[in-house]
Amino acid sequence: MNPEKAHQASVEEAKRLLGSLAQTNINLGTMTTYRVGGNAALYVEAQSEDELSQIAVTQQATGLPVLIVGKGSNLLVAEAGFPGIAVSLGEQFEASEIDAERAVVRAGGPVALPALARRCVHAGLTGFEWAVGVPGSIGGAIRMNAGGHGSDMKACVTGATIFDFANSSTELWDKPRLRFAYRKSSISPTQIVLEATLQLTHDLTGRAQNMLGEIVQWRRDNQPGGQNAGSVFVNPETETAGELLDRLGFKGFRIGSAQISPKHANFVQVDQGGSSDDVDAVIRTVAARVFNEAGIELRTEIRRVGFEA
Ligand SMILES: Cc1cc2nc3c(=O)[nH]c(=O)nc-3n(C[C@H](O)[C@H](O)[C@H](O)COP(=O)(O)OP(=O)(O)OC[C@H]3O[C@@H](n4cnc5c(N)ncnc54)[C@H](O)[C@@H]3O)c2cc1C
Repeated sequence: MNPEKAHQASVEEAKRLLGSLAQTNINLGTMTTYRVGGNAALYVEAQSEDELSQIAVTQQATGLPVLIVGKGSNLLVAEAGFPGIAVSLGEQFEASEIDAERAVVRAGGPVALPALARRCVHAGLTGFEWAVGVPGSIGGAIRMNAGGHGSDMKACVTGATIFDFANSSTELWDKPRLRFAYRKSSISPTQIVLEATLQLTHDLTGRAQNMLGEIVQWRRDNQPGGQNAGSVFVNPETETAGELLDRLGFKGFRIGSAQISPKHANFVQVDQGGSSDDVDAVIRTVAARVFNEAGIELRTEIRRVGFEA
C-alpha cells in the first residue's frame, strides 16, 4: 500500500475506534493565535480520563501521532494541516481552586493564565502576576516553562498530574521530575497536563494589583498586536533574540503574508487571511541568514506543527 493510502486507512481505523468522539474537518489554525493553518485529520475535545484512554488505545492501535492543543498561543500549524489526532481538554478539566490561607492554587490544564493571574491577586496572593500577559493555558505553560518579567512556571509549580497517551497512565509528577529549564520541561508530546499545583505567597505589601497593571501596560508598549505567537526564537546565550535580529536589520523583513514585526524583531506576524507557510518561510530564512552572518544557531520557541523538521 502506498504511504498516502496507508495513512488514510489509519485515519479511518482511528475514526472507527473513537466513534462519536472524533471530529473531522476541524481547522486547527483557528485554534491558534496565528489564526492561520490547516485541518487536523481528527480532533477530539476530551471531557474525561476515560475519553483520554480511548484516544490512547486508538493512538497505539493506529500509530497516528497525537498533538495536544492548549490555547494555541505557541503553535504554528502548516497549511497542509496535522496528519494525526489533535486533542484538547474540555471544560470538565477547567476547574481551579485557590486556598488563600495556604497560598496554594490548583488549576486544570486548560485554565487560562491571565484570568488565573488576576484571581490569585484578588485572593491576596503574589508570585503569578507575570502570567497576566501570557495568553496560554496552564498545561501549555508547564510544557513550555512559560515565563516573563523575571519569573516562570518553575518558580511557582510544585507538581502536576500527567496523563500519558503512550501507556494510558495517570501520574502525579513532582517538580524535580518536570525538569524545568529555559522554555522547556521534561513533558513529551504524548504527555498531557491535566492539573497543576502552584505555591504562591501572601501579598503582604499590597503591590500585586499595581504589578498587574504595569505588566499589561508594558506589553502594550513593547509588543505588537495582530496575529502572532509571541517570541519566535529562544534567546541565544549572548543577547536576546530580538536584539540580535534587530542588530542584523531584520525588522520588517517580509515573505508573502508574513513579516518580522517592525515593533519587536522576535515576533513574526501574519496578515489576516495569510498563510502559515509564509510564517514558516520567514522563520527558516531568518534562521539560515543569522547562521551565515553571525554563526549563531537559533532554536524556535514556537512549536511548528505539520512542517518538515
Ligand atoms: C502575544 C503573546 C505573548 C506571549 N508572551 C509570552 C511570554 O511572555 N512568555 C512565554 O513564555 N510565552 C509567551 N507566549 C507564548 C505562549 O503564550 C506560551 O508558550 C504558553 O504557555 C503556551 O500555552 P498554550 O496553552 O497556548 O499552548 P499551545 O500553544 O496550545 O501549545 C504549546 C505546546 O504545549 C503543548 N501543550 C498545550 N497544552 C498542553 C497540556 N495540557 N499538556 C501538555 N502539553 C500541552 C502543545 O502540544 C505544544 O507543544 C506569548 C504568546 C503570545 C501570542
